[in-house]
Amino acid sequence: MYKHERKFKKRSSGGYNAGLGKLFCLLLGGLLGAFLFAPGRGGEARPGESAPAPLPLVPESAALASSGPTANTEVPPAESSQTETPAEGGMQTIELDSPVVTVSIEGKSTEMELEEYLVGVVAGEMPASSEPAALAAQAVAARTFTALHMAGRAKCGTGCTVCDRASCCQAYLADDALRERWGEAYEENIMKIRSAVACTRGLVSVYEGQLISALYHASSGPATESSEEVFACALPYLVSVESCEGDHEVVTRQEFSAAEVVERLNGLYPEANMKLPLGELDFDIWGRTDSGRVRLIRIGDTVIPGGYLRMALGLKSTAFEVEKTGETVVFTCFGYGHGVGMSQTGANEMARSGSSFEQILKHFYTGTELAQLTFKGEKGGA
Ligand SMILES: [Zn+2]
Repeated sequence: MYKHERKFKKRSSGGYNAGLGKLFCLLLGGLLGAFLFAPGRGGEARPGESAPAPLPLVPESAALASSGPTANTEVPPAESSQTETPAEGGMQTIELDSPVVTVSIEGKSTEMELEEYLVGVVAGEMPASSEPAALAAQAVAARTFTALHMAGRAKCGTGCTVCDRASCCQAYLADDALRERWGEAYEENIMKIRSAVACTRGLVSVYEGQLISALYHASSGPATESSEEVFACALPYLVSVESCEGDHEVVTRQEFSAAEVVERLNGLYPEANMKLPLGELDFDIWGRTDSGRVRLIRIGDTVIPGGYLRMALGLKSTAFEVEKTGETVVFTCFGYGHGVGMSQTGANEMARSGSSFEQILKHFYTGTELAQLTFKGEKGGA
């Protein structure tokens, strides 16, 4: 295991029982996962991360009935239309029905070729100034994410195969939006993005021959998070690994007035019964995950998962420190996003140090290999 480089301030661990805490987290993690499952964020704040939906504590039965985003909800393999072909000396192939993907763009269903769709995703998810190998890794991650949906093993909340909402699926920018964003740099940037997609054409990440849930996020800080800490599902390829982000790690200071957090949290969690002035035990961190993210935190008379507090206050990540300074509560958040899978910032730093897109993918998705997509009726790959 890696050594976590950041030393978080040691907090009271009170009577915290790691086993019970884990169970508590697992019970609630399913609903949390639905809200946090979105991958990376691109160069801008994501809808699901900057303006989180209220997330009341509810029993698991209610969570299952939630109509929230359902991206990447795994369904039994029997319903999958993915066919795997064992490698015979060459690269393994994954066969899908069709190369056409139905994308919900600004609420409108649009059909397009997978590879063309990926150009808009990579452009929407990462700055064009990123290293070519990082953009190529992003293209494979986005292709894998999409292919899992195309294979019927993950669902988009819109009813389309995927959508352009980063809070549900992946960001997507159409060509006119890119021309507007990039201005005079359009030609140069679009060539770079198209090249990243083209040089990885048809490539996806697989684990033991199956498409993976290729989650990604903007910045993880020194280490990514294991999937079970966020999504109540332990996947062998989504385990905590180092992410060398150095000075490029996203660190955000988020300040709230004490009155504001009390009002907001009491509204979502009446059982917290928070009062002003804030007491010593308000925002008392009960436990952190191995990667340093807040697993449980006390607010008033109750304890909630760190992920719930993140959603309630729109925190950039659950790797935070809290400071109460009289009238204010200040969160210093390290990283940006759920922290699971590939860190876009970490990928860019690896690429800067000379890693290939394949090395980047294998680093962040433990034990995975590359495979080639094929489509029914086609020979020789995507
Ligand atoms: Zn979606």
